[in-house]
Amino acid sequence: CGIVGVLGNHEVAPILVEALKRLEYRGYDSAGIATVQNGKLDRRRALGKLVNLSDLLVHDPLPGHAGIGHTRWATHGEPSVINAHPHQSGNVAVVHNGIIENFRDLRAELAEAGLTPETETDTETVAMMTRLHMDRGLPPVEAAFKTIDQLEGAFALAFLFDGEEDLIVVARKGSPLAIGHGDGEMFVGSDAIALAPLTDRITYLEEGDRAVVTRAGAVITDAEGRLANRDMQQIEVDAAR
Ligand code: GLU
Repeated sequence: CGIVGVLGNHEVAPILVEALKRLEYRGYDSAGIATVQNGKLDRRRALGKLVNLSDLLVHDPLPGHAGIGHTRWATHGEPSVINAHPHQSGNVAVVHNGIIENFRDLRAELAEAGLTPETETDTETVAMMTRLHMDRGLPPVEAAFKTIDQLEGAFALAFLFDGEEDLIVVARKGSPLAIGHGDGEMFVGSDAIALAPLTDRITYLEEGDRAVVTRAGAVITDAEGRLANRDMQQIEVDAAR
């Protein structure tokens, strides 16, 4: 339902939770964040209100300067901690808004490769498929892109990878996604309101776009794989609030 991502210069867990709070108006049943710290991908998830996630983080902090977060509105699989995003498989974590229509077909393909789902969600298959491509030798960006090509349905996606502290891959098809430009920091969000306190420089992805986001900026390609030039807009922070 709500997506945020930060490539920052200090601890991102509080920034992610704060940004998710700004997306609360969309409604949600659970929430979670993932970060990479010292090359290691880890995550925390909680059922119910964001305060439950905040409480969990007090007792079990999640350090790291790169991370993604999600508030979930369940479509496939009951609201539960297991089904909450981010979904992780191997060296990749994924947050997703929308529905992957062909997740059963993807599951069948994954089963042939010996990968069994641990959740009831459509989203987990995105993480699993990316993991499979990585296991077979593709680098993270190529593995994510190849997976995105296989997906049918509506989605906004953000991918975070083990061992990659300066990389978030995002994609947009049927569900909005914005990239926020900071000074040596980069942000992603399912809408500008989530990013308003972080930056007023926003690039909206267009239908079919995907982007490789690093602290140096975002490289956006369109549905045909061509380099895309998307305008950076200066948003009114107060209006967005
Ligand atoms: N279909 C996904 C799920 O049920 C994502 C739902 C959402 O947009 O929050 O987990």
